[in-house]
Amino acid sequence: GVIGDPTPVTPELLRATPLPRHRQGDDKDGRGRVLVVAGSVEVPGAALLCGIGALRAGAGKLQMATCRSVAPHLGMAAPEALVAGLDETPGGGISAEEADKLAKRAGRCDALLLGPGMADGDGEAAALTKRVLERMDPGPVVVLDAAALPDLEDGPAALRRHSGRVVLTPHAGEMAKLLGVPKEEVEADPLGAGRRAAGALGAVVAMKGGCTFVVDPGGAAWSCDLGQVGLATSGSGDTLAGLVAGLAARGASPVEATVWGVFLHAEAGNRLARTRGPVGFLARELLAEVPSIMAGLG
Ligand code: AMP
Ligand code: MG
Repeated sequence: GVIGDPTPVTPELLRATPLPRHRQGDDKDGRGRVLVVAGSVEVPGAALLCGIGALRAGAGKLQMATCRSVAPHLGMAAPEALVAGLDETPGGGISAEEADKLAKRAGRCDALLLGPGMADGDGEAAALTKRVLERMDPGPVVVLDAAALPDLEDGPAALRRHSGRVVLTPHAGEMAKLLGVPKEEVEADPLGAGRRAAGALGAVVAMKGGCTFVVDPGGAAWSCDLGQVGLATSGSGDTLAGLVAGLAARGASPVEATVWGVFLHAEAGNRLARTRGPVGFLARELLAEVPSIMAGLG
């Protein structure tokens, strides 16, 4: 679409822009490789939520990197994944010194997700993200969430090398920080905020909220108000970021992966709202709903 009203995301729209099909003979590398850099001493489970999200979206291979003391626990919780333990900061985050290692690993993947649950008390998430983006070879789709989100000052330079391949998934508070404006300003015009961020950073933006807007750098926009308040729960956004990364690893374009991910997330919430009740379902429970929803869309 052109600049104007956002296009509502519907099942019909998604059927018209189907996800890449896997060939019967594909191996797990061919199905899409995802590297998740996430979690901290205080929020270890965010890595689990987004990593499993990538697999539930259909990606073939999952690698996760988190801080060293968390890694063995994460590995037991996600036996499907390779889990790399990285040097920790005093604040319980991942040391920016590990950026080279991560950049190399990311170069062998199809999608890189950074951010969910990362500690940023001393700016370690921002420092690590910046260094990884500077050092990794362009190619993988890069999904940035939570503490790994850029701002308008440093962002443009850090993201330039990966232009056309970046997705940002802020909620209103994170968008306010990104733009350097009060949260109320974002809430008054979330679509406008999304367009500003997408244009300035050359990235696809999912401006999350009760209605989520997906905006591409040219200003084209999609809206999804199909979700419900039960999705406003701890870890919910982490699962969405994982879905987007998994879909991108399968070969969906950044904007397709984001639009599809937002829809699948909302619809998973709707299914749980019906089967369990409108509130009280857990973010982790969203993920098992995703494969059958995808299958129902062709
Ligand atoms: P986060 O704050 O990062 O955990 O992300 C929250 C997720 O839940 C986002 O995908 C939001 O779009 C979604 N969400 C939050 N509140 C609502 C709501 N009232 N209705 C529908 N979706 C919501
Ligand atoms: Mg979040």
